Amino acid sequence: MKIRTALLATACAFALSACGGDDASPTADPAATPSTAPAETSPAQTPPATTDAAPGDMAPADTAPADSADAAPQDATASAGGACEVEIEGNDAMQFNTKSITIPSSCDDFTITLVHTGTMPVAAMGHNVVITESGDMQGVNADGMAAGLEQGYVKPDDDRVIAKTELIGGGETSSVTFSTSNLEAGGDYKFFCSFPGHAALMNGSVIVE
Ligand code: ZN
Repeated sequence: MKIRTALLATACAFALSACGGDDASPTADPAATPSTAPAETSPAQTPPATTDAAPGDMAPADTAPADSADAAPQDATASAGGACEVEIEGNDAMQFNTKSITIPSSCDDFTITLVHTGTMPVAAMGHNVVITESGDMQGVNADGMAAGLEQGYVKPDDDRVIAKTELIGGGETSSVTFSTSNLEAGGDYKFFCSFPGHAALMNGSVIVE
């Protein structure tokens, strides 16, 4: 402590004198003294302060998540109403948590974030989000299956694919941002998971409005 204090005082004095000339010396001493005093008291206060703060923080912390939990659905609703992004969850039960995505035509770009909330590996319960015209869904899905796991079950350079995330396993997240210029308002689009066998359950409508 004493050495640190001395070093601090010296450093302060040096810094201040370097900056301030004569005024620095009187300033440096008072500055060093109070800075030492709180430094010594604060360690002593810290344990009780931390202990008090912990339960104290817990209470606000409990209410804070509650508030933010209330806010989250509101945010989700709001984003569905106009934001240029959406988050979709896929789980180990081969389900998306939504049956439709709304893309406002006012968005130049749109971002889809897929969150795999499960724990199973990609090879067993992989999920992605692929967007095509509805009429292309079956063909893209079949070609994706043929392309295999290494291609994320999407045929490379498939022109029918409007957007796709990576194929991910449990605990992973993948985002894709794509131009909406290839989407027509009122068009008939689908999103689905192209992992073999998943699209029958894991699909929904993409609404462009
Ligand atoms: Zn899947």
